[in-house]
Amino acid sequence: MTSRQRPGALLVFNAGSSSLKFAVFHAEPDKDLQARVRGQMDQFGVAPRLRVRDCAGTLLADTIFPATEVTHTGEAVRHCADWLAAHLAEEPVIGVGHRVVHGGAEFSVPVRVEPGALERIEALVPLAPLHQPFNVAGIRAMAAGRPDLPQVACFDTAFHRTHPDLADRYALPRRFHELGMRRYGFHGLSYEYIASVLPRVAPELAAGKVIVAHLGNGASLCALEAGRSVDSTMGFSTLDGLCMGTRAGSLDPGLLLHLLNHRGMSAAELERLLYHESGLLGLSGQTGDMRRLLASGEPEARLAVDYFVWRIVKEIGALAAVLGGVDGLVFTAGIGENQPGIRARVVAGCGWLGAELEDQANAAGGPCISKPGARVSVWAIPTNEEEMIARHVRRVLEARTG
Ligand code: ADP
Repeated sequence: MTSRQRPGALLVFNAGSSSLKFAVFHAEPDKDLQARVRGQMDQFGVAPRLRVRDCAGTLLADTIFPATEVTHTGEAVRHCADWLAAHLAEEPVIGVGHRVVHGGAEFSVPVRVEPGALERIEALVPLAPLHQPFNVAGIRAMAAGRPDLPQVACFDTAFHRTHPDLADRYALPRRFHELGMRRYGFHGLSYEYIASVLPRVAPELAAGKVIVAHLGNGASLCALEAGRSVDSTMGFSTLDGLCMGTRAGSLDPGLLLHLLNHRGMSAAELERLLYHESGLLGLSGQTGDMRRLLASGEPEARLAVDYFVWRIVKEIGALAAVLGGVDGLVFTAGIGENQPGIRARVVAGCGWLGAELEDQANAAGGPCISKPGARVSVWAIPTNEEEMIARHVRRVLEARTG
């Protein structure tokens, strides 16, 4: 931030189909951003509930609204913005950042949402029909309520635009590539955050070959070379790659043709199967939540966890080949940060690469969890997509005032 940029709050929104997450950061010239509050509104149209916590985790609000008062993202944005205006009035918001799932081939960096930009973002809805409309609705609601505030769209695909051309191709007739049927990669804000903290947390890795495992409800891997993404396991959509909470990960497309042509499945049923009924949930028949699977003694739950680990190990092997070797492995997101048992099993499967865990450090949560002197160092590093977005907002504002 330049000295001309005044201090103030940066508001970050992450809009989903039935929930809206937000965070507020205090931004002061030449200082690190400080998280002030985090909150979430969910259960739109059913029992809309707003919960807000300060940075120490103290609950500041827990309110349930009438079902008809918050039925969609736009109304949720307005309620959250109103709450923040009333409760953080001493520090005015000076900029708003939005997580936008898809930036297509066009957006390789965050952009200020100026006339024309929103239409270009909206034009990408067909590439992410289950996510992008909610991101667009959030931006639109904020622009309507506070047209004076600069808004910045931060894309989950943008960080992957450094991939070599080959990594983003499918072996389809070339015209499909030109029509946008290519690999985009996702979880980019998480990987960008991890790459940004490596010089401080794991300086020996910052210039090296690193595989980052973002293991949450959605899960993917990213191959980093000197902090830049060169490949990732998600492709055209968020369905590709690893087994996830409710998504299967890579599938033989012949299987999908079979379901459509010979099992009478409609496109809508297929979509539900692929996004909401598969993965850990599908395999276990119980839940897509790793904590509950690990607590269950059922053989199906064990199978689901075994498969989850097996797929990660397999894909790490593929990315290790793409990188031509690996210096470090980083675990992040809900499972990656909090499940030492899963980390241990993945690393055991990567022993051939030279990764070896220090059990106590792994149980303690890291950040470095590998044995000293191991050929491949292993890390558990919390991600912070909201902070990454806030940093982008600050940079965009700075470019304007600098
Ligand atoms: P999302 O992709 O929705 O942001 P998260 O990153 O929160 O999801 O990851 C959700 C997964 O992480 C779930 O499988 C959950 O069981 C697991 N998880 C989240 N927090 C913890 C925790 N504190 N301890 C153990 N597992 C956790």
